[in-house]
Amino acid sequence: MTKLTLESLEASGFEGIIREEPLAGGMPCFVHHREAGGWCEHTAVMRAYDMNFCEAHGAEIKAGVMAEIYHDAYNVLTDLARREHPDINAVADAYLTIGRDEMTGRCTEAQEAENFALLKAYPLREDLVDTETRHHYEAPDPRNDDPSDVFSRARMHALKLMRLSWQAGEYWTLEGLELGRQGASVQLAYALALDARRTASIA
Ligand SMILES: [Zn+2]
Repeated sequence: MTKLTLESLEASGFEGIIREEPLAGGMPCFVHHREAGGWCEHTAVMRAYDMNFCEAHGAEIKAGVMAEIYHDAYNVLTDLARREHPDINAVADAYLTIGRDEMTGRCTEAQEAENFALLKAYPLREDLVDTETRHHYEAPDPRNDDPSDVFSRARMHALKLMRLSWQAGEYWTLEGLELGRQGASVQLAYALALDARRTASIA
């Protein structure tokens, strides 16, 4: 059996989740959330979770898939060290620390790629911004969560459910989960754009 490495997992699109191989011509992109402005009109160039995506939306879901896997891997390594093995031996603990450090770096890189891809995939549509997000940027209330945190958590959660469904072979759930992921993603992109605009106006 071939030994799995991070590189081989990435090269395999995490065992088939991401497929960046040529598609039959003219396939439509699957992004169609109404808050993203409805059906994307670009041609698909890749697949993720057996759905088709154009270049911009493909880059966005790919970055999200990677961010979720690395984030989850960090949590798994943390749980192994602290919760499941409180009397863990020092060598195992040291190796788990190496793994966590590696995942921290990958999470940071993935999040940067994710933010860039989100802003490109979903250009700001003022008329489609979530009402609470709009209020947050018009009259910030420190008691409320930052919209980008709220939608980032929702997007991450949807991505995790998609991965677990994929692993379990429950493919029928994927299109429904993808629609939820698109809703969280598009509103995260709008919040990031509004955040950048506010930061630029303060500077
Ligand atoms: Zn698209």
